[in-house]
Amino acid sequence: MKNNLTRLTETVSAIKTNFLFRTRLLPTHVFVLETENGLVLFDTGSPGSGRLIIASLKKAGLDPGSIRAICLSHWHRDHAGSIAEITDLLAPESHVEIFIGQADLPLLTAQRVRVLRLNPFLNLPVLHRPGRLPSPSNGPLIPLDKAGCARLDHLYGIKAIPTPGHTPGHTAYLHRETGSLFSGCALSLLKPHLVGLVPIFHDRQEQIRSGRRLAELDFKYLFPVHMFLRNDEISLEKRLPCLGKKGIMDKLIGNHLFFRISS
Ligand SMILES: [Zn+2]
Ligand SMILES: [Zn+2]
Repeated sequence: MKNNLTRLTETVSAIKTNFLFRTRLLPTHVFVLETENGLVLFDTGSPGSGRLIIASLKKAGLDPGSIRAICLSHWHRDHAGSIAEITDLLAPESHVEIFIGQADLPLLTAQRVRVLRLNPFLNLPVLHRPGRLPSPSNGPLIPLDKAGCARLDHLYGIKAIPTPGHTPGHTAYLHRETGSLFSGCALSLLKPHLVGLVPIFHDRQEQIRSGRRLAELDFKYLFPVHMFLRNDEISLEKRLPCLGKKGIMDKLIGNHLFFRISS
């Protein structure tokens, strides 16, 4: 199996997974953070990504048995789709804690089809079903309430940042020590130098508010799940306004832009 892992910084790597139906239309990444308490994964890709993730870790010399936690940005199947595959592959000795925003937990566990909205102008309905659930003994689901947030921070130095809008319980994660922001779908690199929002949402206004808060946050590295990857520092002084820069495609698709990155 191919090694899809790319090392981005001293402690963060990205594994490129197959998007829905194994197409390559929308590159989807799983991020791996090395901490002194083991590996933490951010999201898990679509169903069918489990083996690729485990094989990529092994080929890169990282022990999948040291995965201690999975931080889910939200319940969608291209993010939470392989949690059961990963915990099954690591079973029986594994005990991977799976963190998820409080409001997204019931959406994941109900295992029902839901309607998402695509394009803020057309408001097109898209049907979406969550991925399979892990067995509670291998992969307990931990809601990011006060206790869940405190546990994540205490064990791994990761701050959970509620960023509702794409889904009700969407969560971004900041690793404090390295200034790494794992933004899920709350902030995306629409182009290598352009940061904004994808046009899929539960509540567009809330999504824009959450995205703006993240865009103004003092982080160093930005690791969004879809599309482009960067491994350089984009601290506040490197973020420039992109007013008047919106292209025709961004307008048609309904992308919302926050800033561009100075070269
Ligand atoms: Zn999503
Ligand atoms: Zn997605």
